[in-house]
Amino acid sequence: MKRAIFLDRDGTLNKDSGYVHRKEDWIWLPGVLQALRRFRAAGYLLVVVSNQSGLARGMFTQEDLATLEAWVTTQMEEKNVGIDAWYYCPHLPEITGPCSCRKPEPGLLLHAARDLDIDLARSWMVGDSLRDVQAGLAAGCQCVLVGPTGREKAPSLPAGVVVAAHLPAAEAHILGPELHRMRVVRQARTQAEDSNS
Ligand SMILES: [Zn+2]
Repeated sequence: MKRAIFLDRDGTLNKDSGYVHRKEDWIWLPGVLQALRRFRAAGYLLVVVSNQSGLARGMFTQEDLATLEAWVTTQMEEKNVGIDAWYYCPHLPEITGPCSCRKPEPGLLLHAARDLDIDLARSWMVGDSLRDVQAGLAAGCQCVLVGPTGREKAPSLPAGVVVAAHLPAAEAHILGPELHRMRVVRQARTQAEDSNS
């Protein structure tokens, strides 16, 4: 089974200017592409899980989102990185009735886990709102709350949720210990080789 980084979209990958659905409004947050590349290099799948109630509100269509997604994918390919899958909740309870996929419900993550054979317990949810970490916890993932307001929310967060200023800081928290372990293993191997020679 694979490990994944589940990513919120607006406010985590790109600037949240409200109902982003045109490429003109997509602004990458600093350091995001490099962080995504390092996650990939460490063997994580990258899966976007995003509430898009603008669909239920009739502000844009599935085609608009697909067009934006294709453009974002091209941008990423130029930087030698990519997203493995995108999952959206198109609902809004007031308009379409309750659903099991709108975060804080874990439906998008559970759906992705089934599709992509993901081990949820060894995966992470990274997002900038409380409902992102609630969805991640409900799915059985480890969670990082990113963004400028994370520290203010920290006292009211469920136990075990990590707070980081932005996605690159979340990446350092998640991959730091793994890279450290790899270094220790490499050093041990080198020492064993030295003592054999
Ligand atoms: Zn939904």
